[in-house]
Amino acid sequence: MLTVRHAVPMSASPMKIYPIITIPDPVLRKEAASVERVDDDLRRLMDDMLGTMYDAPGVGLAAPQVGILRRVIVMDAARDEDPPDPLIMANPEIVNLSDEMRVHEEGCLSIPDHTAEVERPAKARVAFLDREGKRQELELEGIWSTIVQHEIDHLNGILFIDYLSRLKRNMIVKKFTKAKRIDAM
Ligand code: ZN
Repeated sequence: MLTVRHAVPMSASPMKIYPIITIPDPVLRKEAASVERVDDDLRRLMDDMLGTMYDAPGVGLAAPQVGILRRVIVMDAARDEDPPDPLIMANPEIVNLSDEMRVHEEGCLSIPDHTAEVERPAKARVAFLDREGKRQELELEGIWSTIVQHEIDHLNGILFIDYLSRLKRNMIVKKFTKAKRIDAM
C-alpha cells in the first residue's frame, strides 16, 4: 500500500485552483475518455486537481468536475489531524467488489450542501496508473472504498444522487436548476 502513496506533489509553478462544476451542468453526465499516457501535462492536471480538492475542501475529485473529460481521479481521506495521504489514479478500473456492503453519508463537491446515505460494497479492488504511469492494484476499504467508487462513477457520468429515490433526486436537482436560473437573471 505504501509504495503507491506520494508525498503531496509540488509542481514548479503555482498550483491552479479550478472552479468546480455543479449540477445540472451536462458535463457531469458525460463519459470521460481514457488517458493514453501519463506525461508531464497529465501530472500537472493531477496536481492541480489535488490542490483544487484540498482547497474546496473535499476528500475526492474527478476530472469531469473541473470540466475535463479524462479518466483521472484524486482522493485523500486522511483526517484533519493526520498528515495528507493523497491517492492519484488514471484509468481506474474496479477489479473486484466485496459482497459486504457499507453505508456512508456521501456528499459531492458538484452538489454542495446536500448529503445522503448511500450503500456501496465495503471493499473495492482497483487497478490504475499511478502518477508515474506505473500500473498498480490496490484493495481499498472503509471510506476509501466509498470514495473510489464515487469518483469512478463520475468518470461514467454517474452521481451519488442516482442511488437515491427518484423523488429525492428530483428535489435536489430542481433546487440547483432553480438557483442557476436566478443567477442568470
Ligand atoms: Zn462527487
